[in-house]
Amino acid sequence: MDFKKNDMVTVTIEDMGKDGEGIGKVEGFTLFIKDAVIGDVVEAKLMKVKKNYGYARLMNLVTPSPYRVEPKCPVYRQCGGCQIQALDYQEQLKFKERKVRDNLERIGGFKEIPMEPIMGMEEPYHYRNKAQFPIGTDKNGEIITGFYAGRTHDIIPNTRCYLGVDVNEEILNIVLNFMKTYHISAYDETNGKGLVRHVLIRTGFTSKEIMVCVVMNGKKLPHSEKLVEELVKIEGMTSITLNVNTKKTNVILGDEIILLWGETYIQDNIGDIVYQISPLSFYQVNPVQTKKLYETALEYADLKGEETVWDLYCGIGTISLFLAQKAKQVYGVEIVPQAIEDAKRNAKLNGIENAEFYVGKAEEVLPELYDKEGVYADVIVVDPPRKGCDEKCLETIVKMAPKRVVYVSCDSATLARDLKYLEERGYEVRRVRACDMFPMTGHVETVCLLSKK
Ligand code: SAH
Repeated sequence: MDFKKNDMVTVTIEDMGKDGEGIGKVEGFTLFIKDAVIGDVVEAKLMKVKKNYGYARLMNLVTPSPYRVEPKCPVYRQCGGCQIQALDYQEQLKFKERKVRDNLERIGGFKEIPMEPIMGMEEPYHYRNKAQFPIGTDKNGEIITGFYAGRTHDIIPNTRCYLGVDVNEEILNIVLNFMKTYHISAYDETNGKGLVRHVLIRTGFTSKEIMVCVVMNGKKLPHSEKLVEELVKIEGMTSITLNVNTKKTNVILGDEIILLWGETYIQDNIGDIVYQISPLSFYQVNPVQTKKLYETALEYADLKGEETVWDLYCGIGTISLFLAQKAKQVYGVEIVPQAIEDAKRNAKLNGIENAEFYVGKAEEVLPELYDKEGVYADVIVVDPPRKGCDEKCLETIVKMAPKRVVYVSCDSATLARDLKYLEERGYEVRRVRACDMFPMTGHVETVCLLSKK
């Protein structure tokens, strides 16, 4: 049957995609339907038709899935932050575990996959330690804040996000009131005018320290002492700063930080390691799950204290410092120079002397060091971005022949591809475990142990 735009179809949703969209088939034709969840039977209208697949809009829920739940957030459908709030959390976990397994089978060609149970959250809301709220104006010229609608820059007004911490709302109300009282303008993306662009809030879950950073299209915030006066009343307030970003860009933060009050950073712990976090630092947003993920990576690495470990794509050295406690020596490699500065400072802060860091691309730094100096590893940990490891990097790992490789992945499709490469070159996949770092979204992290055959 030929489908065309505006056709109505009835579909059973059998799977979900990366962005949490429902996936179903009609006569072999695959449809992607936003806001439909596994188990739903829906009536949908075709919006875009390609050769073998299409996109459709959910028009009518014919039979709601038994796994449907009432979403907590009233704006979850419009807001781009959450995608699968309408799916029961236990089903979300099953979906994510299945996704990892399917990719390993389909792309990696693996058959008997040694999967351990997915690590979910006991409380799958309020897990984020970081939020970046855009500031704008509504049709009536009122200053608003909230979240961008999916794929656009329209602000959905909302100060109560269920993924973030409660104090965010209090802080946002202080900022909005301040802006109204002192007639401070909001930035307008369309013409580059106006002052306040974003409010970045970070909370240390173990330290209880709070950071507020106001991102500005300029260097001066008039009457900022009045804003500070209100913000410091909040328990745990540690750092109040301005960030200067005068560029016409989608990138939220600029390079310059101006201190208004307190410190320019907050501190937080993951396990026994303390990290200093500035507004510009990368830091995992779900500290509860990060701890579980790193503990699993550490368990898989099986360190006895005599090992040389390489941590590729190390960021600010979060995993490196975690491993350094149990290894003889750790080397980290990361492409972003500021992240390496953070890594070095955090090593010092924790009195860790057996961690060394290199700036550069893993696929360049590692081969070069191997060719020139014949560097050695007992264990190699990789935690690459979504596109996975560069082949040159994998090739060098194989040459270095570590006893174990621990692969931490945020995209199980590229994970499967890379595991296949390693499996064909002398490694065996021994353990696989998914971890839900981002409940209510379609993302899933995976940690995997490979041993030399
Ligand atoms: N392991 C860290 C960060 C993982 S995110 C943590 O858990 O905190 C992936 C990191 O890889 C990012 O910091 C990114 O800047 C870095 N990166 C991206 N491409 C890279 C490359 N080709 N070589 C080295 N690092 C890279």
